[in-house]
Parts: sequence; C-alpha cells; structure tokens
Amino acid sequence: EFLPVPGILKNSCGKPFPVHAVRRDFPILSEKVNGKDLIWLDNAATTQKPAAVINRISQYYLHENSNIHRGAHTLAARATDAYEEARSKVCKFIHASSPREIVFVRGTTEAINLVANTYGKQTLQPEDEILVSCLEHHANIVPWQMISEETDAKLRVIPIDDHGQIQLDEYEKMLNPKTKLVCVAHVSNVLGTITPIAQMTKMAHAHGAKILVDGAQAVSHLAVDVTDCDYDFYVFSGHKLYGPTGIGVLYAKENLLKEMPPYQGGGNMIQDVTFESTQYKVAPDRFEAGTGNIADAVGLGAAIDYVESIGMEHICRYEHSLLEHSMEALHKIQGLTFLGTAEDKTSVISFIIDGLSNDKIGNALSKEGIAVRTGHHCAQPVLRRFGMETSVRPSLAFYNTKEEIDEMVRVLIRLKKGQH
Ligand code: PLP
Repeated sequence: EFLPVPGILKNSCGKPFPVHAVRRDFPILSEKVNGKDLIWLDNAATTQKPAAVINRISQYYLHENSNIHRGAHTLAARATDAYEEARSKVCKFIHASSPREIVFVRGTTEAINLVANTYGKQTLQPEDEILVSCLEHHANIVPWQMISEETDAKLRVIPIDDHGQIQLDEYEKMLNPKTKLVCVAHVSNVLGTITPIAQMTKMAHAHGAKILVDGAQAVSHLAVDVTDCDYDFYVFSGHKLYGPTGIGVLYAKENLLKEMPPYQGGGNMIQDVTFESTQYKVAPDRFEAGTGNIADAVGLGAAIDYVESIGMEHICRYEHSLLEHSMEALHKIQGLTFLGTAEDKTSVISFIIDGLSNDKIGNALSKEGIAVRTGHHCAQPVLRRFGMETSVRPSLAFYNTKEEIDEMVRVLIRLKKGQH
C-alpha cells in the first residue's frame, strides 16, 4: 500500500554544498553524546543554532538591552531599532508588502490561537465552515475546535491519499459559500509532504474563503513568498528556522489586521486609556501587548541573515539530495515501511520497522548519539490515518551529511539483526 521510493527522488543535481564549513558554524554539532559524535536528526522538532545567532543575542544583552520605548534614552533607541530591524528582515524574508504585516508572537501555536480568537471569533457564524486537512499538527486543529465550539461553526477535514498528499478533488467538493477559513500546513511535520498550498489558496479565494498557512515546517526548507501566493495568514516559529525558541511570526494581510480586534490587552498595544474606554494602536503593536521577546526577535533576525547568506535555493538543492540518499538507504532495511511518499516532499521522513517497537529504535539510536523523534509528533490524526499511533521520524537540515544518515542506517540494520 505504501510505495517505498517516491517519485521525487529524481532531480537531485547541482553544485557541491559546503556542508563541512557550514557545520563549523553550529557549536553544538561538536557535542559528544554517550561518548559518540552527536548526530542531530530531530530538526522538525527544533533546529540547532549557529554562532551568529548565539552571538547576536549575547551582543543584544551586552550592549542594547532595554525595553522598547524609543524616545526614553539611548539603550531604548538601540533596542527598539534592533527589534524593528528584525521585523523588517522577516518581512523581506517572506516577501510581505510591509513590516506592518508582521506580528511577533511566541511561535506558530500562539499565532494560530491569535487568529482563531480574533479573526475567527469576529467573523464566524453558526453553520459557517472551517476546513483543516488530515495532516495537521495539533496546533492547527485544537484552536479551531475550540473556536468552533464557541461560535457553532463546523470543522471539516480535507482528506489525504495513501501517499500523504491532500486530495484536491475532495477539497474542491468541500468548498462552498459557508466555507470561511481554510487552515493547512505548507509542509507536514510527520510525512514531509509539501502541500499544493498556492493552488489551495486560489481555490479558497474563488469561494470567498480566507486561508491560513502553517509554515512551521516549511520556512527552513522552502522559499516563501506570501504576497505572490496571496496567503491571508502565514505563521511560523523562529526555533525551526535556526533561531531562538519563544519567538514566532504571524503574517497577515494589512487589511485583515486593520479589522481584527486585539488578542490580549495591556501595555504597548494602546493609544490612550481611560477608565471608560481604551483606544488601541494599529497593527502590529495592537497585537503585541506587554513586553515582547525582544532579544529573541533580534536573534531571529540574525538567523534569517544566516540562512540568506547560504541561500534558500542552495539549501533546497542540498536537502533534496540528502532526502533522496536517506530514502534510498532506509529502503534497503528489511521490513521498513515509510509513511509519506508524496511526490512533493521535503526533509521529514517517517517509518516503522516490522518487529521493532519505535521506542526500541529511538533508544538504540540515542545510545549511539543519534537524535530522532519517536512518538505521535503532535499529529495523532494523520498517524491514525495510516493505522498507527507512533512512528520514527528522522528529519533533516542543511548541516546533516550523508555519512550521518549512513551511520543511522547501520545502527538500524544491526538492531534489525538483533545485534544491538
Ligand atoms: N505546526 C507544525 C506543522 C509543526 O511542526 C509545529 C511544531 O512542531 C507546530 C505547528 C507548533 O510549533 P510551536 O510548538 O513552535 O508553536
């Protein structure tokens, strides 16, 4: 039922990627774990940080730290400039039309909750429909369930095929005048499927619906152009893009942000407060109540600079060849079944092996210093779609090497032969 070698394993060519030079930029990659060299293949959970990001955050605390209220004093001006510069870097990176369309949040989860509780609460009426796909992370399911309960809107699920790709024909049939919002991942965190999100956006718009794209697994692997693709909302987390934890991005079209009510109330988001009423600032400040994660926003800006210095096209090409190598090498293991064999696929691989529990596999790899994720990956519905509760999930980044993959495969073969 699951095709073991997907069609995407074709067009990997191009210039050599300076992987060993790049690895030296990531101090943690020299770490020893259980006496072995660390092999970090849990990049879908979080990515490691280059020295450029670590140093930028420490530079911020050494020389710029202040709250952001520009006029007050010199450090306040430095902190404000650094924070706003980071916003501009995000804007350019995803090709938004203006930094005013970039709201800093804690991460993807908070961004989706923000949209559900502002735009969702404001617009959804009883019997309206929200569509999510079967391959969503819980972060793009649970907030919509909660808001559906509150508003009496209906949550409907777009099915996927046996390769783990969205069924566009079914999606087309589900769209109707009651569809208000479509919420879909750009890349699946379990299957690695790249969804046909640009086409899905056009189809949603043709039916008068808005689209929210969960870019958590996409931003580190694919070039994103929110304006060209006409997304209404695009969300991601800094920590999956070689940046710090605790900082993420909500992109929303300016005309939508203008109409959306605030999410949280407090300092920074107000124009004027009396006990009778409060006037709010315009976006993005209106959605950034309280003291934000200033240092980590600055760190995210440094991560974007770093990724851009390598070049997304270069990264894509290298990661694609690594994916191809990984799938071919894993395919040789007897009894291994892949989940997720869509033609459009990037750096996330899921599998199970006959006769071996996923925990056993994870522990055996960990003993050898190899970090992969085992479990439900916060996406239980998609695993259950394939009749499973858990899987083993190695996930790749541009600092991984073919040698690391080969080492993982060697450990798995030994384990399968009962030699571990
Ligand atoms: N969406 C997807 C596709 C993810 O992979 C993740 C994290 O793994 C999230 C949402 C949630 O991201 P965060 O925990 O950073 O908010």
